[in-house]
Amino acid sequence: MEAMTPAAALTATIDLDAIAGNVGVVRAAAGVPVMAVVKADAYGHGAVQSARAALAGGASEIGVAHVTEALELRAAGIDGTLTAWLHTPDTDFAGAIAANIGIAISSPRQLAAVVAAARSVGQPATVSAKVDTGLGRSGVAPEEWTQTARDLAAAVAEGAITFRATMSHLAFGDEPENPFNTLQAQRLDAATAELASLGVTAEITHLANSAAALTRPDLARDMVRAGIAIYGCSPIPGRDFGLTPAMTLAAEVGLVKKISAGQGVSYSHLWTAPEDTVIAILTAGYADGIPRLLSGAFAPSIAGRQYSSVGRVCMDQVVINLGADGGDVREGDRAVLFGAPATGAQSAADWASTIGTIDYEILTAVRGRAQRAYVGTAGSNQVDNLAGGGQAQ
Ligand SMILES: *Cc1c(COP(=O)(O)O)cnc(C)c1O
Repeated sequence: MEAMTPAAALTATIDLDAIAGNVGVVRAAAGVPVMAVVKADAYGHGAVQSARAALAGGASEIGVAHVTEALELRAAGIDGTLTAWLHTPDTDFAGAIAANIGIAISSPRQLAAVVAAARSVGQPATVSAKVDTGLGRSGVAPEEWTQTARDLAAAVAEGAITFRATMSHLAFGDEPENPFNTLQAQRLDAATAELASLGVTAEITHLANSAAALTRPDLARDMVRAGIAIYGCSPIPGRDFGLTPAMTLAAEVGLVKKISAGQGVSYSHLWTAPEDTVIAILTAGYADGIPRLLSGAFAPSIAGRQYSSVGRVCMDQVVINLGADGGDVREGDRAVLFGAPATGAQSAADWASTIGTIDYEILTAVRGRAQRAYVGTAGSNQVDNLAGGGQAQ
């Protein structure tokens, strides 16, 4: 995914300035500092470049799921505050501590492993408590909270850890008015207060994801953790927050040809030409992240004009109908599969709503032969990389 070949048949072009600008939108809406979430290779945008762009756009710190993701950012020279929050019994806490990576723990067992690692490294760990206030996923279970709080106090007293933050994650962030959001905030505040009563002071508390950051500033506490919004997608389908989509996925037109009325197209002939027409083959398929469920139900755009996809999405190729006049489309033209709607393209959100998923899944599914290229300058002084990126549309 990292090569910068400008002529790649399938390109995911990432606008770094869009990422930087989107951080500003979130910051303004939430009214507090922003942690840019770059887990899962920055939702398919490239973790290192996206983290740099987000920091350039005013993000205060960076969040990831796994310690391995944080270590990769450190190795790439990102020296700001990093936090990782999803662990297994094999997680390299010693490596995280040595690299000054913050660790958010979800159980007394994880805390004990972090404390043991801190002792072995001979350096205190920076620890946050991820509290399950009702999401029912990772986070310290209510049944284990009191024990965790006591253990945190003991670890702080021993000097094995520095306590950083209490944090939690919302179950209904994308439903701003859901009363459960407020309940979760109250539970998080109670957990923070219980820790304080044991002498463990949280420097900061954070709860909101993108959706809550943009719609519920009253829940923000001291920081918001924004992922999808910094990539320019709306965390609440259909609502416009003034974000700019950062990724444009574009495929080359490999072949243009005439077909006759009655000719079936692609596997199982899901579509048959009703009249003589011209079709184009785009060189990207489900192996690259175009969901097969989108067969016949998406509309790539060429030079700002959308064309209907026809027939099955295949592993390597999709077909669009150019119409009887061929629409002036030529082999070698580039078709935007999804991108910024302002350019006339469909968005990742359009694809998501068509197949009943969320744009997060569309973005993170881009893979296979898609090559990334970068445009914009935010956080980047690698002019070499931008030369290639500038060619892709
Ligand atoms: C992924 C994640 C986020 C970011 O969520 P978005 O909806 O993309 O803003 C924030 N916090 C935690 C704990 C996460 O896992």
